[in-house]
Formats: sequence, structure tokens, C-alpha cells
Amino acid sequence: MLKGKTALVTGSTSGIGLGIAKALARQGANIVLNGFGDVEGPQAEVAALGVQVGYHGADMSKPAEIEAMMAYAAQQFGRVDVLVNNAGIQHVARIEDFPVERWDAIMAINLSSAFHATRLALPAMKAVNWGRIINVASIHGLVASAEKSAYVAAKHGVVGLTKVTALENATTGVTCNAICPGWVLTPLVQKQVDAKAAALGISNEEAIKLLLQEKEPSMQFTTPEELGELAVFFCSPAGNNVRGVAWNMDGGWTAQ
Ligand code: NAD
Repeated sequence: MLKGKTALVTGSTSGIGLGIAKALARQGANIVLNGFGDVEGPQAEVAALGVQVGYHGADMSKPAEIEAMMAYAAQQFGRVDVLVNNAGIQHVARIEDFPVERWDAIMAINLSSAFHATRLALPAMKAVNWGRIINVASIHGLVASAEKSAYVAAKHGVVGLTKVTALENATTGVTCNAICPGWVLTPLVQKQVDAKAAALGISNEEAIKLLLQEKEPSMQFTTPEELGELAVFFCSPAGNNVRGVAWNMDGGWTAQ
């Protein structure tokens, strides 16, 4: 379905971003990966799906590096057809204790980076009258949890940015939608499991059970593979008129 198209997924060396990159690659899209840590492993996993793979190590907190990444993608692959704004970090603390530097980093990586990549991707998408912008927000783009002020504010911002992007391009072939996962067991969440286990003196399994019990009626994690298939749907012809939605995959979190 996406053969000949190029998808750039930010923060795709791990977790949800890698899951989405692989799902898009299975549909034939060439992939530009981005993110820190091990790069060769994820590159090999995507290449094994028979598509071309590029990588750019832009730090998504730095607009100049995002510009360099978009220029690299255009130069290597001609154009970005599918942009997935996924890179994100978390920090958990009450507002009065929240480190200012962490607030700024979360705003830059979780929110402003999506604005920068979007503004740079739009002209080429509009030129061919086809494009898909998929913002990985969170259930925290729709509802809040205590001790996550920066994350919740940034993710609500991402949902707002998604709607504006969708509206500004509503008469074109460029759509923009958000994905709002509940708990997904990635390194980002494992850190929160570890913190709970340490604070309460309980096992990893008990901490996972508590975490799910608090919020997620299904008592199941959503998987990066499931989220990848939702991204594939947004890219499909059936997704042509799906514009500006914030679609949860949250095990019933927000149905309560
Ligand atoms: P993760 O930690 O597994 O992956 C994050 C990715 O972002 C990694 O590839 C990392 O290298 C990259 N990254 C971090 N800082 C970066 C920076 N400054 N520049 C470039 N890349 C950077 O986390 P994840 O759980 O897969 O999270 C991916 C997205 O999904 C985030 O936006 C997160 O907020 C969102 N999300 C996660 C969950 C969850 O339960 N895991 C739930 C809802 C939303």
C-alpha cells in the first residue's frame, strides 16, 4: 500500500516509534529512523522487511537539527510522505518540585518538535496533494494524571496542534491525526514501573499490576504493533477523510 512512499518516524530507535516504523515498512514504505541509543539493531530490523532505511540522529529538542533531518530525508528519498511525530520523554514530579529544565525539555521534545517537523514537511506533501501526519500524543492528551504536569500539558498541546494541522489542510490530500495510547510497556514506562516497585518495595510483576489497575480496565498493555496498525489505517485510502481525530487505544482508560 505504501510502496514508493517514504515515512519518517521520530524517536524510532525504540518502543512505539520502532513498532510504527516496522508496520509502515511492512506496507512497503521506505523508512527514515531517528532517535538515540542503539541504531544498528533497529536499522537491521526494518531493513529485513525489504525496504530502504535511512537514519538521522537529530536531537528533537533542537530546531536546527530537525531542519537538518528533514533536509536529509528530502535529499535521500526525495520527500517525506508520512511524518510520524513520536519522540517523547517523561518526568514525574509534583509541580512545586518539577525541575524547570525537565519542563523545558518535555515541551521541546514532546510538543515543539512536532510543530517544527510538520511545518517543514507540509510544503512537499501539498505539492503532490498527498501526505499523512500522525502525532503520537497519549491518553494524557485527553485526560490528566497527577505529577505529570509537563507531559500532560505537552500532550494536550499535541492534540490541539493535530486539529489545527488537519483544518488548515482539510481541502487537500494531506491529513493529520493523533494516536492516544494508554499504557505501553516500553523503556519510558518501565522506568515508572521500576520507581513504583522501589517506592513500595514490591516486585516488577506486582508494580505492573498496580499500574494497570489504577487506570486501565483491560489490565493489558497496548503493544507497539497494535499502534503501528492504527498508523497504517490512517495511511490507507479508508483514512482519506479521517481528519483531526485523537484516537485512543487505551484499554478503556477514558471510558470510565
Ligand atoms: P521510548 O523511550 O521507548 O522511546 C522514545 C524514543 O524517542 C527513543 O527512540 C528515543 O531515543 C527517542 N528520543 C528521546 N529523546 C529524543 C530527542 N531529544 N531527540 C530524538 N529522539 C529522542 O518511549 P515510548 O514509550 O516508545 O514513547 C514514544 C512516544 O509514545 C512518546 O511520545 C510517548 O510520550 C508516547 N506514549 C507512550 C506511552 C507508553 O505507555 N509507553 C503512552 C502514551 C504515549
